[in-house]
Amino acid sequence: MGQVQGKVALVTGAAAGIGAAIATTLGREGARVVLTDLDDARGEATAGAIRAAGGDALYLHQDVTDEARWQDVMAEIESRHGRLDVLVANAGIAIIAPIIGMSLADWRRQTAVNIDGVFLSAKHGIPLMRKPGAGKPASGGSIVMISSVAGLRGSAGLAGYSATKGAVRLFAKSVALECAGARDGIRCNSIHPGIIETAIWEKMPAGANDARRNAPLDPRAIAEATVPTGQLGTPQDVANAVLFLASDASSYVNGSEIVVDAGLMA
Ligand code: NAD
Repeated sequence: MGQVQGKVALVTGAAAGIGAAIATTLGREGARVVLTDLDDARGEATAGAIRAAGGDALYLHQDVTDEARWQDVMAEIESRHGRLDVLVANAGIAIIAPIIGMSLADWRRQTAVNIDGVFLSAKHGIPLMRKPGAGKPASGGSIVMISSVAGLRGSAGLAGYSATKGAVRLFAKSVALECAGARDGIRCNSIHPGIIETAIWEKMPAGANDARRNAPLDPRAIAEATVPTGQLGTPQDVANAVLFLASDASSYVNGSEIVVDAGLMA
């Protein structure tokens, strides 16, 4: 039996990278997974691969900054599964720029995805996670918010990203306290990945706003220089921590933060 057998899980930003590994891992461990993303081709492919491996997966298009779409996604999950047990707020973007070179439009775009998107996930996810349903696991629901090591300290060149990820850290704790106070059985924790090999590094504009850089960011070189072991993390390293928080093995873990960084922050 899988570690999240029978649970219904929603993963945002699940088409690629860390989100795809989370969705695939939860699907392999018995969850019925709903994947959402902007990238429909890759989202459908990831959901298809989960089904091909014997899992239950549905892909839905979603921009996490669009509140009306959150209502549609929740209605779809309710009609298909009748409940939601695990919510992983993973979708995020990183815009690299020195503070004096960052446009207000870019600041707001990053804030919209990384903070508004996470706020909307809790606002629209909690009511369905609360709703009693037949066969709902006794331990209730688990919300996992993907922050970053950049949410634990400042980052030169990634000030806006750090600000959003620090906000996610404290928002997760606030969600944990509100849900605990309501005695609705929902837990909420944040995960803080270190240097993980995904396309997010390729998407950061190379050198456009940063005179010190003239080449694309190389996560392997950054890990070599900054991680005590020199190790570059994989999406699976993060997915393993999400699996623990999603499962009943973590039923006494609430309002907490798990750092997945091979000692970078130690
Ligand atoms: P990624 O770019 O590989 O994947 C992010 C996914 O989110 C993409 O599929 C993208 O289409 C989707 N997305 C972007 N904007 C969206 C929106 N508005 N609505 C819905 N989906 C949207 O990045 P990743 O590295 O897998 O990042 C996943 C999460 O992990 C992010 O929150 C990121 O900040 C965090 N993180 C990543 C690292 C790292 O080193 N890769 C480190 C710490 C934290």
